[in-house]
Parts: sequence; C-alpha cells; structure tokens
Amino acid sequence: MHTLPKLSYAYDALEPHIDARTMEIHHGKHHQTYVDKLNATLKLFPDLQTKTVEELLSNISEVPEDIRQDVINYGGGHANHSLFWRIMSPNGQGPEGELADAIVKTFGGLDGFKEKFTNVALNVFGSGWAWLIVAKDGSLKICQTPNQDSPLTNGDRPVLVLDLWEHSYYLLYQNRRGDYAKSWWNLINWQEVSKLWTNRG
Ligand code: MN
Repeated sequence: MHTLPKLSYAYDALEPHIDARTMEIHHGKHHQTYVDKLNATLKLFPDLQTKTVEELLSNISEVPEDIRQDVINYGGGHANHSLFWRIMSPNGQGPEGELADAIVKTFGGLDGFKEKFTNVALNVFGSGWAWLIVAKDGSLKICQTPNQDSPLTNGDRPVLVLDLWEHSYYLLYQNRRGDYAKSWWNLINWQEVSKLWTNRG
C-alpha cells in the first residue's frame, strides 16, 4: 500500500511564500487522493503492489496496458508531490559544493539557472510541472511535463521540481503564477536537491 508521506515541516512553515491553507489542501487532499487512486488502481495486481512508485514509473512498459495511464496519472501524482515536498524547506540555503559548480558549468550561474527554469515554468500551458533532471548522459537539463507525467518514464532522474497546477498557488496568488514561481526560490532545500543529484538519497 502506498501512503501519504509526512512532511518534515508544518503546513504554515513555508509562509509567506506558500500559505498554510494551500499546503493543508494540497498535501492532505490532493496528494492523498493520488495515493488512494493509485492503491485502487493496483488492487487487482499483487505483483505490482510490491514495487515502489518510482519503480512502476521507471518501468512503465511493464505495467499492463489497461491500467498504464492510471499508473502514469496517479503514480505520477504521488511521486511528483512526494518530491516537491522533499525539495522545499522553510530555511533553504545554497546550493553549495559540486552541485553549485555543476549549475555554473551548465547554466552559466545560479541566476542564469533560475531565469531559465522560471521561463520553462511559466511556459507550462495548463497543468503541469517544471523540472531539473539528470538526463541519461549525466547532464543537467531543465524540462517540463504536462498533467502528472513524471520524467522517470523517460529514463530521466528528477532532482528539482515546481508544481504548476493552479491548486498549488491559486488561494494566495490567483492568476499571478509568475509571483508564485519567483517566491518559490526562497524555499529550495538545496541539501536534498544535492542528495538527489548525486543519487545518494
Ligand atoms: Mn499539486
């Protein structure tokens, strides 16, 4: 059974960038629904129940066709949100060390990286996600996915992600998606991003 991950911070800890009410509904209702629907989808498939959601998404062709899209939607919803909670923190600092070097090398600097990432985020049409991923060749890349699609199904390894569904910002920001995307940079848990990047966690 897949379960809703506990947050390492309180619902109001990300204020003023993300408000407590949004966190309560986003984590407690939206994410919980993805978990419940994923479990319901896998109900008749005991072999698949032993796999992690990341394993399911990374090997999506092994999931029977009649439930494959549901696993992409609900499994993606579960995995994407779990990562989103993990890479945020009320006291984000960084990046440092090798990850900082890689960002400078790849994107010309932290500011350049943030600008490129934010541009991709604001170009997500409708509901979706912006990502920093490690591609199969080991390079860092910025990309977007629609709906609840996960980069794992393409063989990419996600290390940073921003939820661009309206439910993630509408109560506080309404139509001002750009303000949300900009404010979110104050919340990055670069230590966790670094662990994900080096594949140590
Ligand atoms: Mn969401």
